[in-house]
Amino acid sequence: MTDRPNARANTLVRRTPFPGSVSRAVVTPLQPSVVYASPSIETLHAQYEGRADGYTYAREGHPNATLLAQKIDALEGAGGGLITGSGMAAVTAAIMGLLGAGDHIIGADQLYGRSLRLMHQDLARFGIATTLVDPTDAHALKAAIRPETKMILVEVVSNPTLRVADMEGIARVAAEARVPLAVDNTFTTPLGYRPFDHGADIVIHSVTKLLAGHSDVTLGYVAARDPEQARAIYDFAVTTGLTPSPYDCWLAERGLYTFALRADRAEANAAQLAEALAGHSKVARVLYPARADHPDHARARALLGGRFGNMVSFEIRGDEAAADRMVQAMPDLAFAPTLGDVGTTLSHPASSSHRGLTPEGRAALGISDGFFRVSVGIEEVELIIADFEAGLAAV
Ligand SMILES: *Cc1c(COP(=O)(O)O)cnc(C)c1O
Repeated sequence: MTDRPNARANTLVRRTPFPGSVSRAVVTPLQPSVVYASPSIETLHAQYEGRADGYTYAREGHPNATLLAQKIDALEGAGGGLITGSGMAAVTAAIMGLLGAGDHIIGADQLYGRSLRLMHQDLARFGIATTLVDPTDAHALKAAIRPETKMILVEVVSNPTLRVADMEGIARVAAEARVPLAVDNTFTTPLGYRPFDHGADIVIHSVTKLLAGHSDVTLGYVAARDPEQARAIYDFAVTTGLTPSPYDCWLAERGLYTFALRADRAEANAAQLAEALAGHSKVARVLYPARADHPDHARARALLGGRFGNMVSFEIRGDEAAADRMVQAMPDLAFAPTLGDVGTTLSHPASSSHRGLTPEGRAALGISDGFFRVSVGIEEVELIIADFEAGLAAV
């Protein structure tokens, strides 16, 4: 090597091995590398042929995604789950990886907003027909099945009215007709319901929500019971670039350390908030599946193992102007259309997730201008209730 300064600087461009240590780092390392160098052509052959484990290119997989997927697999009783760049990427990979032109999919009529949009606007362009049915009615679902039906997609608890799907009936209908059942388990989380234990073929999550829990990553998860379906979903996701960034996976895995604690606390808070709201003179009705007056209370008890979740919806006695005064009177609580954050968030479906519907369409779902959905967080419950009391006083 010459001693020219440029030559010395050039050695800085070369990648050198990370320093080793006989003691190991306690914290999960973040591996942002896009590419992985193989020692030989033979090793590369072995990797591509599945004879050796190893990464090649981050879009195809990386250790931070693998680790996160394994942890969610363990929660769900799954194997080989895939992390995607968002919950919607997981929904898309499941549908587009398995269905093609001429196929038909049945969806629940109260799916997450973008899933609904995918169903009735985008899939048609690819020749996939859609039928939406009420998931509390397994007979309606059975009647919608056609010879070309290739998937049923439901959420266990609907947004924002928190209706509980007839999961047993749906699983029976799906099994009889041999149609794969995909369950978006975001709201219930694996603590409340494990779809694979109840006949589901595919499980989907928006990891963005309670699993990651801090509103600082957008990620999804999809797992299929059948290895061939899992492979097809994986290939579609990799080809279309639906796969995630290592940093997001690292953050989400960090979030998982406290998932169970956060879920327990948020759920206990939700029950108390529902109670406080139900007793308030400005509140017309409260929807929380643990309450005896919830329309699906019996089913929620049977299905959810005593876990009723952190989501509470309610309706004030007032119009949109009153609803707006309430929002403005509780500035410490984030008025934001998301869920599963450590902090309590409040959303107003008529002006956000359901603004695309006509007032009549919203009324049919029971969503008035005074309807709110709360994602209850892990603050001291007294603080949350005090916020709502201040808000409701302005109604
Ligand atoms: C948020 C959400 C999604 C979409 O997830 P993103 O991570 O925002 O893409 C899908 N399904 C449900 C039930 C959700 O709440």
